[in-house]
Amino acid sequence: MDRQRVVIVGGGVIGTMHALEGVRRGWEVVHLEADAGPRRASVRNFGLVWVSGRAAGEELELALRARELWEGTAAVAPGVGLRANGSVTVATDPAEVALMEEVAARPDADARELTVLDAGGVRVANPAVEGTVLGGLLCQRDAVVEPGAVLGALRAYLLEGDRYTWRPGRRAVEVAPGTVVDHLGEKHEGSLVIVCPGDAHGGLGGTIGAALARAPVRRCRLQMLETAPADRTVATSIADADSMRYYPGFDVRGRAGLPVPSEEALSFGMQLLLVQRAGGGLTIGDTHVYEEPFDFAVEEFLYDRLRARAEEILGWTLPPVVRRWAGVYSAATDSRMCLREEVEPGVVVITGLAGRGMTLSPAVAEETWREVSR
Ligand SMILES: Cc1cc2nc3c(=O)[nH]c(=O)nc-3n(C[C@H](O)[C@H](O)[C@H](O)COP(=O)(O)OP(=O)(O)OC[C@H]3O[C@@H](n4cnc5c(N)ncnc54)[C@H](O)[C@@H]3O)c2cc1C
Repeated sequence: MDRQRVVIVGGGVIGTMHALEGVRRGWEVVHLEADAGPRRASVRNFGLVWVSGRAAGEELELALRARELWEGTAAVAPGVGLRANGSVTVATDPAEVALMEEVAARPDADARELTVLDAGGVRVANPAVEGTVLGGLLCQRDAVVEPGAVLGALRAYLLEGDRYTWRPGRRAVEVAPGTVVDHLGEKHEGSLVIVCPGDAHGGLGGTIGAALARAPVRRCRLQMLETAPADRTVATSIADADSMRYYPGFDVRGRAGLPVPSEEALSFGMQLLLVQRAGGGLTIGDTHVYEEPFDFAVEEFLYDRLRARAEEILGWTLPPVVRRWAGVYSAATDSRMCLREEVEPGVVVITGLAGRGMTLSPAVAEETWREVSR
């Protein structure tokens, strides 16, 4: 019997997880990526597999399923670097502690493995936090992967079999049912086409281009940095309480009582997230800007603020910064988790996962395949 064949456009985490799920289901996969290797959101992120901030209900269910699937994926492709390190969101104001208590009293707190900590508890959970904190929220279901390694590890695993073909440096220029044409004029045929273009909303014409042009999606640009290896272990990922303004999991009554942030923090959508990489360096961010065209340069004063905030919480001087970058993600602006649309028979486009794409990618791929297999 002829194998079923899918052409997947986009080598980010969404495209790659769809490739993995396709191969698992016995399909032959041809995977096209415009760049020589993926260079966009999927390699520029924190690698947080973030359950704590997900909205109650469907989004949390999907995140919990994704968390489980990440474990299965790490078992076959350990290079993804999954660590079940948990996270601590730190509080420096009583209103922040009150919000954490409210969230930890909800029925889904056990599924998230949440515990409210006092200052001593924060230091037990993460002895690297030596600054003045009032308390924190521990989420033991949060985890982290290595964004610089995930895609390569998944592809290496896929290439061990005979059902996967990786074609980097091939930009899809025409997509139609059954066929994708790349910029070199080569045709790639399959009974199914899945397009995962990330933030390249305007990259394709035709039906896909039209669907993306009318879709409720926008782009967001974030600034990030990484330090040299720290000489100590930062046991959990760390968030400051500003993160509770943005993550929907904290959208409860007490959020209105949070202290008023600075004008600057508000206009750049600043929050502190900090992850220790497997090699010891610290990935620190972030900021959120939606207004386009985006600046081509990164703003140094924002890095100063992020570093100062991290040092305030950690209570020690950060190692020198060795890398700085900006990343852009695509975000659905309606109530959907992402944009997933069958724009023509057998042609599905999927993007818009915003700041949760790394987290949700395996579960989203599973859902897509379930839908197309019906
Ligand atoms: C700074 C930053 C931090 C983040 N932190 C986290 C986090 O910690 N946890 C989390 O869950 N999420 C996080 N996210 C979000 C997450 O990274 C994204 O949601 C996710 O990576 C999106 O994956 P993607 O595959 O859709 O897009 P991308 O990674 O952008 O990949 C799309 C790929 O498609 C290719 N492509 C586009 N058009 C074509 C074409 N015509 N032909 C061929 N190839 C094409 C592009 O070259 C690109 O490689 C973060 C995002 C950013 C920017």
